[in-house]
Amino acid sequence: MSTHKPDIKEILRQSGNSITKPRLLIFDLLVGQEPMTMYQLYDKTKNQLDRASIYRIVDLFEKLGVIQRISSGWGYKIELSDKFAEHHHHLTCLSCHRVTPIAGEEMEAFVTSLSKQHSFRAIGHQVEIQGYCNDCEATASSSVRV
Ligand SMILES: [Zn+2]
Ligand SMILES: [Zn+2]
Repeated sequence: MSTHKPDIKEILRQSGNSITKPRLLIFDLLVGQEPMTMYQLYDKTKNQLDRASIYRIVDLFEKLGVIQRISSGWGYKIELSDKFAEHHHHLTCLSCHRVTPIAGEEMEAFVTSLSKQHSFRAIGHQVEIQGYCNDCEATASSSVRV
């Protein structure tokens, strides 16, 4: 399935925002990456940008639908939206806060039929399954034994 991925420069231009180096840098740092926290993103910029600028860019990208937030623990992580990444769902570990992207084809048909039942035209969805990853399960069960 070949899908046309929109161009970040095109999105900025069409929304009346200028194409700046910091904006392109933040976008590049998110391409092909797993969801990351603002701190992880800041870390990746290697002091090329200050925190305030990163927050402003992330805020703009969210408004433009370039990125999406996933809740994680008390905070959130960000990743590129379905426009730029293959559509997927998430497994969120409540203990280590690792967010794992997963497929789950069956979900698509389910969402479509559920929306239809409610006379609703769905244009997107986010699915986040919360629980404990294998590593955290193993740690938890071994500490119980102690
Ligand atoms: Zn975990
Ligand atoms: Zn889906």
